[in-house]
Amino acid sequence: MRYLPSSFVVHRWVVEANKLHMQPIAVSTDGMSMHLARPETIQAYNKMAADATKDNVRLKVIWAFRSSSLQQQQFLAAQQKYGRRGAIKWLAPPNFSEHQTGWALDIGDEADPAADDNPLFERTAAFRWLSRNARRYAFELSFPKSNWQGVNYEPWHWRYVGTPEARDTFHPKGIGAWGIWGVSLLEALKHWVNI
Ligand SMILES: [Zn+2]
Repeated sequence: MRYLPSSFVVHRWVVEANKLHMQPIAVSTDGMSMHLARPETIQAYNKMAADATKDNVRLKVIWAFRSSSLQQQQFLAAQQKYGRRGAIKWLAPPNFSEHQTGWALDIGDEADPAADDNPLFERTAAFRWLSRNARRYAFELSFPKSNWQGVNYEPWHWRYVGTPEARDTFHPKGIGAWGIWGVSLLEALKHWVNI
């Protein structure tokens, strides 16, 4: 049950991963650059994608690591498009995006490019396959329907939780969790009041 207003959206504060420790996972859609991710994300994804192929499902990576400066640019663009209260439901502010960790992937279906990065992804064979199998490769859906954070449903956005470091980042525990969610709530409040 969520008692907060729907426009109050909480994105978790994260530490930006060191780009030097990242490796290429896929070529960008425009063919102009490489998407990067942590080695363990890549290893788990490659195994998952290879197994999906055996079931005639072709996964593809649409987005992986994003730096805070790129996140800033995209967040500003989203504000122009959706307005201040609308943008935060679609995109996290800089330093609050799972994409900064190198563990989050936006996954598409090679057979259905019209569903890339949008709610239509739910109709794809890739999504059905991921829903059944991603857990076995330590991937989980970050923003399911009606998530408590208030982020829009994102069937294409999956995060890797296969190492203690990744799990602690996405599911913080103990005293550290208070700090992380405290900072995150303050940021949510800032965007909620600042219209
Ligand atoms: Zn994403």
